[in-house]
Amino acid sequence: MTGPEAPAAGVTDSEESYPRLELHYPRPVIAFDIGGTAIKIVVVDARGDVVHTRSVRTPVGEENALLAALVDAVDSTRRDFPQASPAAIGVHITGLVDDDRGVVVLAEHLGLRNVAMRDRLAGLTGLPVAFGNDARGAGVAEFEMGAARGYHNAMVVSIGTGIGAAVFVDGRLYTADGFGAELGHMRTTAVGSTAGVVCACGGWGCLETLSSAKGVEGAYARATGTAPAGAERVFAAAAAGDPVAEAVVDSCIDALALAFAQVTAILSPEIIVVAGGLSGAGEQLLGPLRTRLDSLLTFQRRPVIARARFGGQAGVIASALIAGRLSGSTGNLSTGTRE
Ligand SMILES: [Zn+2]
Repeated sequence: MTGPEAPAAGVTDSEESYPRLELHYPRPVIAFDIGGTAIKIVVVDARGDVVHTRSVRTPVGEENALLAALVDAVDSTRRDFPQASPAAIGVHITGLVDDDRGVVVLAEHLGLRNVAMRDRLAGLTGLPVAFGNDARGAGVAEFEMGAARGYHNAMVVSIGTGIGAAVFVDGRLYTADGFGAELGHMRTTAVGSTAGVVCACGGWGCLETLSSAKGVEGAYARATGTAPAGAERVFAAAAAGDPVAEAVVDSCIDALALAFAQVTAILSPEIIVVAGGLSGAGEQLLGPLRTRLDSLLTFQRRPVIARARFGGQAGVIASALIAGRLSGSTGNLSTGTRE
C-alpha cells in the first residue's frame, strides 16, 4: 500500500461544533490554543456561542511572529465579527509555563524561552489576557465539565505534538510551580542509555518520542522513509494491516501503558482521561491501553481509562473559559485560579 501523504499547510476555517460555553461574564472573548503545529482560534459571543473557529500554522522559533499571529487574529475578529469584538483574550500554550507570572519558561517545540507572553499580548492588544499551560487548561476543562467530572483523583493526558498532563490530587490541581506532571518527559530508557530517539528537551527516549503524534509520525518516517500526513494516518494504516504502522502503534501504546502504570503506583488516580489530537484514535488506542496497563499492575486500583469529552478542543475551550472569567475584571487570571 502507499504511505500516508504529506500534510497541507496554512489557514483553515473549520466547521467543528462546540458546546455553548458558560462564560462567567457575558462579554465576547477570543480564545487561543497554541500547539506545536497549529494555533486553534475560537471566537465566542456574549451568549457563550462559538461564532467562528479557525486554525493557523504555528510560527516556530520567533516569538514576535507568534505574537503577530495572535494580534492579527484579534484584529480580524474585531473587523469581521463586530458583534463578538473581544473584551478579553484567553491563551493556553504548550511547554513549561509559569501560569501565575504569565511567562513561557521553555516551549521546546516552539523555540521559546523566558517570554512574557501574557503581558506582551495585553500590551499589543489593549485587552486583559488570561494565560496558562495547555495541558493544565485542558485538564481543568475535563475535570470541571468533562470526562473527569465528579472524580477527586484524576489525570488528564493531552497527546498532541508533545505530551502534557494535568494531575488532580484530592480534588486540587497539582502544579509544582509549572514543573509538575511533565509526563511527556518521563524516560523510557535506562540510566546512561542512548537507545531510542533524542527528545526536543535534549533527553533520550522520553515518552513523547514514542507516544506523541509527532513521535508516531517520526517513527513511521524513520521506518519507511516517507513522512506520514499525521499520526491519525499511521493509526489508520495499522488498522488496515500495514505491519510497519502496527509496530509503531504498538510501541506508542506500550510506552503509554508503562507510564500510566508508574503514575498509578504513585498517585492511584481513579480515572485517566486521554485528550489531545491522538485521542481521536478512540478505542484503537484506549482498548489495548487498558489491557496492557492491567497487565503491568498487581494489587493497585485500576484507573478508568476514558476518552476526553472535549477531545482536541479542550485546550481552546479552557482558554475561552478563563477569558470569560477575566472579561468582567481589569486584572489577569491564571488557569490555576479558581472562582
Ligand atoms: Zn523530553
